Amino acid sequence: MIEGKNKKNAVYLDHSSTTPVEPQVVDAMLPYFNLHFGNPSSIHSFGQEAKVALEDARRQIAKLLKAEAGEVVFTSSGTESNNWALKGAAAFFAGRKKHLITSTAEHHAVLFTCQFIEKTGFDVTYLKVNEFGMVEPQQVADAIREDTFMVSVMHANNEVGTINPIGEIGAVARQAGVLFHTDAVQTFGKVPIDVQDLNVDFLTVSGHKIYGPKGVGALYLRQGLQLEKLLHGGKHERDRRAGTENVPAVVGFGKAAEISGTRMQEDFALVGTLRDELQKKLLEQIDGIHVNGHPEKRHPAILNASFAGVESDSLLLGLDLKGIAVSNGSACTSGTVEPSHVLHAMGLPKSIANSAIRFSLGRKNTSDEIDYTVNALKVILKRLRKFKRR
Ligand SMILES: *Cc1c(COP(=O)(O)O)cnc(C)c1O
Repeated sequence: MIEGKNKKNAVYLDHSSTTPVEPQVVDAMLPYFNLHFGNPSSIHSFGQEAKVALEDARRQIAKLLKAEAGEVVFTSSGTESNNWALKGAAAFFAGRKKHLITSTAEHHAVLFTCQFIEKTGFDVTYLKVNEFGMVEPQQVADAIREDTFMVSVMHANNEVGTINPIGEIGAVARQAGVLFHTDAVQTFGKVPIDVQDLNVDFLTVSGHKIYGPKGVGALYLRQGLQLEKLLHGGKHERDRRAGTENVPAVVGFGKAAEISGTRMQEDFALVGTLRDELQKKLLEQIDGIHVNGHPEKRHPAILNASFAGVESDSLLLGLDLKGIAVSNGSACTSGTVEPSHVLHAMGLPKSIANSAIRFSLGRKNTSDEIDYTVNALKVILKRLRKFKRR
């Protein structure tokens, strides 16, 4: 349970939207606001202090990816990293190659970027996902054309948690001489990632999904590969991304990555056990539940489930009144009544898509919170379903 004003006894089950910043991360960041405030591009000692911190953080991120520090470029977010990989590759290949492949279940930071790229004269193939939200390597192989320059398929889906066969898709792309990008925002720091095993050329990560600060991300770029710039200006980040680095946030991101690395197995086991417990108890104690996403190849923290006969909005609000935070669709679409594009892409009927809730667990959740949530759901569903029948 999260302590603090108004948050007493609150149960936070929305870690795929964002996570609280670890106290150790805050402590690591604070000196870089006023004590070590230098600009890492400055030659003097103030600058060099900041530069050292920046490079330490780069090594911490690289270590968790099994990459070289020089292959990690800091950005403002996972969103910027995705935009850069896709727009940067399109601009690099402009006039030579014009085809890009992605999937219909991607995060909007990829999907809407691809739609923009399409408007500038490129062709985009949006691969259909199966009923579990997964892309098959063979689909990628079949879609590759002579003029394909890039494939972008996410590692774990943020709404349903399905994990794509990234290593195999990467092998297909590499054999065809096509660049491969993956959005690994949900898996970074949560499941082991090795950029060699995954056969990726570009990989997106973000700070605030791993108990780090918001507004910082990174893009892994395989050694020797080039992208056109998204931001032009100074020669920051080895002349790859202009703009003075957000040193405190980068330091926090590095620290959060280090902590995630040391506790990965422990977190994975805890979160996976609680998620399985939640799923089991829901299925045992509540009728009319449909679990969305792959039964096994799924992110350990994510459970997406539909509750027959209710609207997910009412369910979400009912849970919020009991102090339980969950998500419906992706955070970016909440506030609108559009059904989730991911559940739609999976071919699920409207009744299932519109009654889906995403529970995403984190390292501070407990078994008691799972029981509290299951009991709260029983009460809320009883009321909502009765209301519905009248
Ligand atoms: C959260 C998220 C993003 C966006 O990252 P930001 O740092 O919030 O911009 C991109 N892709 C996935 C899969 C995400 O879950």
